[in-house]
Amino acid sequence: MRASLNSKILVVVLSVVVAITAGLSALFYRAERSEVLADAYESARDVGRTTEGALTAAMKSRTTELVGQVVEGIEKSDEVLDVAVFDATGKPAFTTGFAPLGELGAETLGDRRPRGMVATGVDDPAYIVFTPVEISPVCFTCHEQSDPIAGVIRVDVSLRDDYDLLRGHRDRFVLQTVVMAGVLVLALWVMLSRTVVRPLKIFARRARQIAQGDLTQRVDFPQEDEIGDLAISFNAMTSELTGRIGDLEEARERLETSMHRVAEALSSALDIDSIMHVMIGEAIGVGRFAAGAVVLDDGTSFVVDPVSSPAGRGASSEGGVAPESRDVEKALRMISGLMTGVGAARVLYRSADVGFEAIGLPEQYETAVLLSMASEGALVGHLMLVAEGHVDLTQPDRRALEFLAVQGARAVVHTRLHELAREMAITDGLTGLFDHRHFYEALGSEVVRAARYGLSLSLVLLDVDDFKKYNDRVGHRGGDQVLRRLGEMLRDHARGTDFVARYGGEEFAAILPHTTHHEAVAFADRLRDIVQNEPFCEGEGQPGGRLTISLGVSTRPEHGGSAEELVEAADRALYLAKARGRNRTVSADEAGADMTAGGPGGPTDGT
Ligand code: GH3
Ligand code: MG
Ligand code: MG
Repeated sequence: MRASLNSKILVVVLSVVVAITAGLSALFYRAERSEVLADAYESARDVGRTTEGALTAAMKSRTTELVGQVVEGIEKSDEVLDVAVFDATGKPAFTTGFAPLGELGAETLGDRRPRGMVATGVDDPAYIVFTPVEISPVCFTCHEQSDPIAGVIRVDVSLRDDYDLLRGHRDRFVLQTVVMAGVLVLALWVMLSRTVVRPLKIFARRARQIAQGDLTQRVDFPQEDEIGDLAISFNAMTSELTGRIGDLEEARERLETSMHRVAEALSSALDIDSIMHVMIGEAIGVGRFAAGAVVLDDGTSFVVDPVSSPAGRGASSEGGVAPESRDVEKALRMISGLMTGVGAARVLYRSADVGFEAIGLPEQYETAVLLSMASEGALVGHLMLVAEGHVDLTQPDRRALEFLAVQGARAVVHTRLHELAREMAITDGLTGLFDHRHFYEALGSEVVRAARYGLSLSLVLLDVDDFKKYNDRVGHRGGDQVLRRLGEMLRDHARGTDFVARYGGEEFAAILPHTTHHEAVAFADRLRDIVQNEPFCEGEGQPGGRLTISLGVSTRPEHGGSAEELVEAADRALYLAKARGRNRTVSADEAGADMTAGGPGGPTDGT
């Protein structure tokens, strides 16, 4: 059975108090008893002496009646129990009852000094006084001188009253002890249960409520003792717990929001640019960083710098078009530092596989976090986060950053696979160039981009000259070889940012972003020259003695704002090139002028 703290305290207090009070009472009683008995013996000796004196005096008066009266008085007295006279041989010469001489009596006979002893019979406790008989000449008036008249008088004095008194005292002491112990036990028990048990019960109750999730619980014991200290510690612990749980809650919510946003970005956006920006933005939010950047294995980089661009998505992407600003410059410095490993910043946290030993940062950044972005064991790139001062990264923060880096890496791999599949779906099987439909998609988005940033955009359309004849002469398979080779030449001649497509049959198109009309015409004519100098199989059988192409060039905004207007203008120019005798490049400027003038003219040809 479980004994409560209260009952344990009661048992201990009871034992201690009873032992102490009983011990003290016993000591007091003993002292009182010896005092009472000393008084009793003293007065018993007085009674003994008085009795012996009266008897001796009566005997010395030689009056038998007087002796009789004294003996009668003694026999009636309550105090004197017995009187006896012993002769020098120890034999009783006179006694009022039966009283043997006893040891002290014999000693008194020997050295003739008065003695006393206590005899504690069950009913008659007594003090016995032995007195030697004094011999005087008067004695010989009654006694013969030859008789052994020397002897001892014994008087037994009752001690009953004194013992009764002592018994009364003892009873009083016991009662006092019981009452005192009871009062003390009660007082101590009440005190201990108020100062110890009650606070403990309150602590236990509060702890139970805290365990059930109520973190507002506090204990209030203002006293300056251990319980008060415990209360202060208890409250401090609860506050600390509340803070910790708050932090964890916050971190969990942040992680949840991040995961949600990243998942949304992954499912809705399939371009690496927006995925990287979501990932970097979320990573910045995890540790309240100043900025973040990603460098992928193909050299592309992405930067998010919310401090310099308060819109929240201030960003630049290498290869993309971004506003010129100091943010971009700073971001690029950051990335170049990351790539080259110049200078050093305090690295707060570095995940596995980050090979940079030292990194260079613009001076205002004091700390950096480096994370590798790996998917299925393959390193895809690195994520770097920078802060201007000290950043505190908790374990959940680090896990959140690792999570974001892994998700970002997966998204990159996924998007690349998707792009590859899409490319396979939208490219022409013979040449590997974009097909007609994708050509229009690309042209549409380039027109929008050019319009947004106010940049020029050019279009080149080209058509093989007298290809029908080539086919007829060499055969369709030979014609296909020519088309495949032309596709390669067009791709090689174009820049990475240009789009080249097979527009139809033996017609090709090149979309040239950020290119002026003059540059585009030069591009087209260079291509025309390369083609006419290419040793195509049986090219010499063509009408001009070699296989050639004709090209039409249009540019936005001068030859039209929309994709359709640009295609129409280039098409007109191409038509004009054919009309002017083929193997030539014609600008939409000339086609427009020619249209207004009423016929073809002004060739740009290589013949
Ligand atoms: P020009 O353009 O100089 O006016 O004369 P052309 O002979 O090239 O005339 P046109 O453009 O009308 O003829 C296109 C020819 O291209 C018709 C077709 O035989 C050929 N052609 C179209 N697609 C293919 C193809 O996929 N493979 C081959 N081998 N030939 C093709
Ligand atoms: Mg054609
Ligand atoms: Mg043709």
